[in-house]
Amino acid sequence: MLVDIVLDIPTRALNTPFTYEFPPTLLKEKEGRSEYVHTGDVAIVELGNRNVIGYVVGVDPDGMPDEKTKPVLAYFPESLFDDTSVKIARWMAQHYATPLSEALGLFIPVGLSARLKKALTAYNTTGEAKLPARRRRSPSHENEYAGASAAAPRPKHLTSGQVEALAAIRAALATAVSIPKVIPESAEIRNTIVLEGVTGSGKTEVYLRAIEDLAKRGKTAIMLVPEISLTPQTVGRFRARFGDRIAVLHSRLSEGERYSQWERIRTGDAQIVIGARSALFAPVRNLGLIVIDEEHDRSYKNHGAPRYHAREVAEYLAGQRSAVLVLGTATPSMEALHRAHSGDYTLVRMPERVGGALLPPVQIVDLTAEFADGNRSVFSRALQEALAEVRQHKEKALLFLNRRGFAQFLLCRECGFVPQCQSCSTSLTYHASTHKLRCHQCNAIHDVPAVCPMCGSPYLRQFGTGTQRVETEFQQLFPDWPVVRMDADTTTSKHAHAELLAQFEQLETGVLLGTQMVAKGLDFPEVTLVGVITADVTLNLPDFRSGERTFQLLEQVAGRAGRGKHPGKVIVQTYWPTHRAVRAAAAHNPALFHDTEREERAKLVYPPFGSLCNLVVSAHDEEATRSYAEKLAEALRRRTELADAQILGPAPCALARRKKLWRQHILIKGKAGLEVGPAVMDVLTSLSKPRAKDLRVSVDVDPDDLM
Ligand code: ADP
Ligand code: ZN
Ligand code: ZN
Repeated sequence: MLVDIVLDIPTRALNTPFTYEFPPTLLKEKEGRSEYVHTGDVAIVELGNRNVIGYVVGVDPDGMPDEKTKPVLAYFPESLFDDTSVKIARWMAQHYATPLSEALGLFIPVGLSARLKKALTAYNTTGEAKLPARRRRSPSHENEYAGASAAAPRPKHLTSGQVEALAAIRAALATAVSIPKVIPESAEIRNTIVLEGVTGSGKTEVYLRAIEDLAKRGKTAIMLVPEISLTPQTVGRFRARFGDRIAVLHSRLSEGERYSQWERIRTGDAQIVIGARSALFAPVRNLGLIVIDEEHDRSYKNHGAPRYHAREVAEYLAGQRSAVLVLGTATPSMEALHRAHSGDYTLVRMPERVGGALLPPVQIVDLTAEFADGNRSVFSRALQEALAEVRQHKEKALLFLNRRGFAQFLLCRECGFVPQCQSCSTSLTYHASTHKLRCHQCNAIHDVPAVCPMCGSPYLRQFGTGTQRVETEFQQLFPDWPVVRMDADTTTSKHAHAELLAQFEQLETGVLLGTQMVAKGLDFPEVTLVGVITADVTLNLPDFRSGERTFQLLEQVAGRAGRGKHPGKVIVQTYWPTHRAVRAAAAHNPALFHDTEREERAKLVYPPFGSLCNLVVSAHDEEATRSYAEKLAEALRRRTELADAQILGPAPCALARRKKLWRQHILIKGKAGLEVGPAVMDVLTSLSKPRAKDLRVSVDVDPDDLM
């Protein structure tokens, strides 16, 4: 008998499974299982002259060993994953140009590797194969209900939008369920629904009903939510409906807690899995539905290796397991919309809030006009007045400072002009040390103009405001009105996030000031005003998605206002009031943004009209980084598969240095659907070893940003 084994060594050089002989003498009896070796079992095998851990990905009962085939030394009948999971891992390895062991590693429960390492050491010293006992711990729900408003009762009547959405999901489920278990290799099964529902339109109720349906038929569901919205409120709503049938997976669980959730899913004890992106790899059986809530959210992209996107993997996974995929959000990604327009996905809209509540009016304040009138405060007069009103009525306000520390750009205070790269359509980054402007995509370098090229103003200056400065100015304006600041500095401790929110909730009247963190999922009915200090930071990120992100963010923050009895109001301050993302969010009219954005992207061959792959080379030595990046770019340019693609760079990354590492990147820009994975993998494995031992190349297929 032969078995194919993926070695637990995440290196690009060992990217394929190795075949070993499985000696019949090793077979063990295990309760509830035939005495057989299965996909998902763990083995100890020899590689060179040492022993390593490996995972069984295929079994050939009739295979005959030749003289070179080595035997499996020991095995643990763990059944960690099934054949379909292996198929998904293989697809990921190829698509994302990542070692197979790394992709497969996603399916392996945390904490197991430590136990396996111990087992290997024990085997090497005693020759005995024994897996140390696992630490089981039931998850504590103590924190889960804290602060959660009592879960809303199951509504008797659905809105017409909800009825329509549910009908679409049911129709998809009806067909998906009838797809035969074994899907022919060539079959492309698409059962994806984009649910575009404005904030407060009752999307969660739609998910809950669809899952109820499914549970009745004995099927399971995976519900993905952005890590940040995996709050007691969210989980509480699901627990209220499904009780102990849910399993929750999030990063704050201890290893033991996580493992016991994993076991509950594997044994079928839990049929509904709620979690962040990695919940996709939970060992669910009989999967019927995957829901990705807030589909556009950036946390669905894994920022470590393998750099997968949960939407992409979910689509493949749903196809393989005959399940339906629902992508719900108020602001679908350009990718999802494009697929909907081209007919791959079904699009359902819920344009109205439950109970007919209106989306809040959005007022745009032009900061160049404020500047012209001599107002140097971060608060425009309109925002000051609106805040004063909230205070007078003893209500609450949310102030949002859109900020990412490293994005350095120049902005004209008088007309709002920001220098851009003409060929890449992204903002140029300002380098104070050299006083130059640089495009981090094509590497073009420009001098800093002495005055604004648009209006001749001398106020072309580096842009940036911190939350602290806003807090200080706020306190000067409203000396005894409480303000809770929530940003990276105030949320370093484990529970700080929840504590600050509780603190704000308990206030009779006050203001919550924060960064991205306050934009999502928060539901405070007392909030009647949302103020965006400047929309410009996201607008001017050196990234082609900056407009899309701004639109999504503004629409999300606006959704925080007026969720209670009082109508809300939103004020957006910006130096660029005419930008389509700002105007579309203000009008709550996505088409105003998308129509032009689509043309623009198509013209520049950006996703979804083109494909991108970003390779980042990093090392401590600057010269080694650059010369290796050049070699890599050259090798890529020689590939025939990439002949039609543009190979841009190498150029320094927008974040040229991080943690003392020098960073250079190469961008492969090709036609939509171009699979660059295999060529990239091949180049990386065949290129001669870099001089610098610490040099790393990270491959980011479908990158979420180009920093
Ligand atoms: P979304 O996820 O689209 O922002 P939610 O699902 O959070 O919206 O719904 C907003 C509010 O409306 C929630 O408090 C929810 O309990 C309530 N709700 C949802 N559907 C209905 C309905 N059909 N009738 C009454 N209330 C509903
Ligand atoms: Zn100007
Ligand atoms: Zn450029």
